[in-house]
Amino acid sequence: MFKDLFQKRKYATIPPERLRAERPKREIPEGLMIRCPKCGNIHLGKELEKNLKVCPSCDHHFRLTVRERVAITMDDGRLRELDAHLESVDPIEFPGYREKLEQQKRKTGLREAVMTGEGTIGGYPVVAGILSFDFFTGSMGSVVGEKVTRAIERAMERGWPLIIFSASGGARMQESIFSLMQMAKTSAALAKFHERRGLFISVLTDPTLGGVSASFATLADYIIAEPGATFGFAGRIVIEQTIRQKLPDEFQTAEFNLQHGQLDKVVHRKEMKAFLAKLLEMHASVYGHAPAAAEGETAVPADHEDREASGEPAIAAAEQAPETSGKADAGAGDDPVPAAVTSGAETGKGGSSDDR
Ligand SMILES: [Zn+2]
Repeated sequence: MFKDLFQKRKYATIPPERLRAERPKREIPEGLMIRCPKCGNIHLGKELEKNLKVCPSCDHHFRLTVRERVAITMDDGRLRELDAHLESVDPIEFPGYREKLEQQKRKTGLREAVMTGEGTIGGYPVVAGILSFDFFTGSMGSVVGEKVTRAIERAMERGWPLIIFSASGGARMQESIFSLMQMAKTSAALAKFHERRGLFISVLTDPTLGGVSASFATLADYIIAEPGATFGFAGRIVIEQTIRQKLPDEFQTAEFNLQHGQLDKVVHRKEMKAFLAKLLEMHASVYGHAPAAAEGETAVPADHEDREASGEPAIAAAEQAPETSGKADAGAGDDPVPAAVTSGAETGKGGSSDDR
């Protein structure tokens, strides 16, 4: 009787070729189903998006595009973009760099690895910067450094807080020393900003490494991170090879960094906006900004940086015109205004996330 119980049941086997031939082929559109890299569960792309790209099973925070970040962070998903026309040149004529830049632009619809602009969070006006890991792994070349520096200077002029969401693999090696000097440039600008008691909140998202983590991303009044975000200087493999030791699994995660005093707080994506608004509220008395102070403000005083941003393009403008006229050699400081930048058609949906 026990023998029957443990006996293997017999199944008919179908040769795999026949199985393949009989099954009708059905293409699954890309992005419809997404597997979580942490827990392996498969989720509907739409559901995941509704959940702010946080895995419903294990809370893994997927990476966001710049536009998705703007959509969930800024009031009404709106960011009046600054310096949208700045594009990288090829300062040391690095082989293949120009082609790669063009390819990154086509892929992301962005001109560079950072988007900066003005907007409000919880009604409080801020200057914001968001790095894109999709564009050249968010690496800091001269344009990223320049745009971040200009954003810092803009915050200084306005007397507004500065918030930067970082995601970067580090310096852009194709620009060599021009890339490295951006660390000094952004740091110097921030030193001035701090002297004038500007408030800078740095939000580290997955991953923030190298020259970005070693410059502006960690020179903030508040350094916060998203759960699970990798944050450090050198990568894990390099460190392990150098010190010849195995590092703990959770090494360089946001939680590990928090435990070791490198961060002020780890904030869940769903609470991020409210948390930022709270911080801004706490500091509002210093800034003398009532909520929504910037709402009615339409006229932007012209200044030395303002020549390109006269149209105050909404993010939608950049979305419409990702392609450039093919001229990749515009200088980082003194290039003319491309027509696309000033054609800021402000559609109501501002920073919608339809680029995926
Ligand atoms: Zn998961």
